[in-house]
Amino acid sequence: MTPPRNSNAVRDIASVLHPYTDGRAHQKNGPLVITRGEGVRVFDEQGNSYIETVAGLWCASLGFSNERLVEAATRQMRQLPFYHGFTGRSHEPQIELAEMLLERAPAPMSKVFFANSGSEANDSAIKMIWYFNNATGRPQKKKIIARIKGYHGVTLAAASLTGLPANHKLFDLPIAGIHHVSTPHHYHGANEGESEEDFATCLADELEEVILREGPDTVAAFFAEPIMGAGGVIVPPATYFEKVQEVLRRHDVLFVADEVICGFGRTGEYWGSQAFGIQPDILTCAKALSSSFLPISAVMVNERVFEGLADGSESVGTFGHGFTYSGHPVPAAVAVETLKIYDEMNLVAHVQSVAPALQDGLRQRFGDHPLVGEVRGRGLIAAVELVEDKAARRNFDPARKIAPRLSKIAESHGLIMRFLPGDGIAFSPPLIITEAEIHDMLDRFGRALDELQVQLR
Ligand code: PLP
Repeated sequence: MTPPRNSNAVRDIASVLHPYTDGRAHQKNGPLVITRGEGVRVFDEQGNSYIETVAGLWCASLGFSNERLVEAATRQMRQLPFYHGFTGRSHEPQIELAEMLLERAPAPMSKVFFANSGSEANDSAIKMIWYFNNATGRPQKKKIIARIKGYHGVTLAAASLTGLPANHKLFDLPIAGIHHVSTPHHYHGANEGESEEDFATCLADELEEVILREGPDTVAAFFAEPIMGAGGVIVPPATYFEKVQEVLRRHDVLFVADEVICGFGRTGEYWGSQAFGIQPDILTCAKALSSSFLPISAVMVNERVFEGLADGSESVGTFGHGFTYSGHPVPAAVAVETLKIYDEMNLVAHVQSVAPALQDGLRQRFGDHPLVGEVRGRGLIAAVELVEDKAARRNFDPARKIAPRLSKIAESHGLIMRFLPGDGIAFSPPLIITEAEIHDMLDRFGRALDELQVQLR
């Protein structure tokens, strides 16, 4: 049936340039228009209800309705709808939020810089690292190492850190001076019979070889998500971050933990860094910082980095970096309220109590499924990877778009799902999800997977 001319679908196709969408396919298929949300569910224009299995974009941690956050935003809008932090101006929401983040940080941190998105936070971190090394008399120390399949955003430098082809192709990226080392994915990357620990040693050796090849006095920082999210929900092998940090310390390379997905309980610890013993020099976060009700991100820097930045800004006369909306009072007030809600709901204990329903549930129900190669994850983040040949760990031809197909089938079973590169299907539901809702989500997923299997026969 052709939709009426004034329908949202037609208007959308005529007017919106969609992020992360095949523009030609969209002209044919049109949008899924979501009109409202409630708890872990969202509803489309026809009133169909969906469990949001990825909390939107791994971000709506408190789900899709929360009166306290609405009130926090409204109160702040009435009190002071805008102010900024340039030239030493400030306001209470940003001060309170900075204090709360410093209190909760996984390693000693000194100051917090605010931005509006994960990409801006990571771009800001790169600029701070360059500035820091110039200010501390090491102008050669500028190269950055990230990882293949890592995801750090889409602005010029952040997209360059990202190790996924779709973020580089046709964009003339990555920029110079950014290097990518191997993905820490034991399932595909390890040799036959190799233990996780031995695989981790190989990866740390590779990192050290790259640093030595480039020259340690030219390598400034290493960026990593504790668990890679958009690249496939890749949980590092045992001892990986321990060994990586030894290498970085030997060569005075800063560790930047990108906690944009892992931060705030996702992995079953407050920070992903705590789940893997990471002691970052710089930490970036966003998304669940405000439960994504409003855009805000943060960069935390330790004392050593702050001292370099402060000295540099003294010599220049200002720290010439900042956004109009850095620390905007309304999202900052919402973030403060979000962190208070996390404390009250005992976030980490809650995630740890419901996580087995997801992690064990996925493994027990789908681990032996002929289409499932690997189930991986931790806390409330997981992925199911689809394979054509389970024994050989061989994926389907990407041209067959198997995971996108499953995600489409899942829609008809009341799930909004996210497919990942390498035919992964992600699970990263709102952190408020209950065990009963997890069981419901897995029942629906099971039905969608069976339907896919019938179609592939
Ligand atoms: N870093 C990580 C780990 C992310 O997952 C994302 C977004 O998904 C980003 C950075 C970029 O954040 P944004 O989309 O807010 O720019």
